Amino acid sequence: MVRFQVKRQVNIDASRGARLREALDILERIVNSQSFRRRVLEHSAYTWNEGLTNEQILNRLIWGQPTPPLGALAVPRLVFFDYELVQRPIWKKLSSVRGWRIPETNDVYTYVDAFDSMSPSELASHLGHEVVGHLAGEFDHPSRKGPERDASVPYVIDDFIEELAEKLPLDEAA
Ligand SMILES: [Zn+2]
Repeated sequence: MVRFQVKRQVNIDASRGARLREALDILERIVNSQSFRRRVLEHSAYTWNEGLTNEQILNRLIWGQPTPPLGALAVPRLVFFDYELVQRPIWKKLSSVRGWRIPETNDVYTYVDAFDSMSPSELASHLGHEVVGHLAGEFDHPSRKGPERDASVPYVIDDFIEELAEKLPLDEAA
């Protein structure tokens, strides 16, 4: 099981903080479910999978390593991150980018306008891309749009999370 905790938050007032926590709760319920597990294991042809099997991909997302030692499974894995909402610059008004994570750090950013316009389910899938795909699993993808990027681990699980968020509550935890 993996859990997410914001260590330091910037530009997040009480009501945004409540929405953030709600989205993280949804995210935790989804990624720790059997349904999510099944989807990750049954998906074919991930790009940028670093040569890992589907089971190893799932293990890295949840446990941080492709082959976790048995002892690790007894304790939930805590993933911490710093989260900041930033204004979208005027020259990026038409961009569809919602947020990003700075590689090799636990710093995650979302544009304020995107944060405010997303439903809790959409926010959960956005955070899933950054916090589960990039931060917890350390997977990457090409920056250019296209089929290769769409089939990368962060984009594929982003879709799974959005789909499963519509089906909550899910079956028992994995
Ligand atoms: Zn990404």
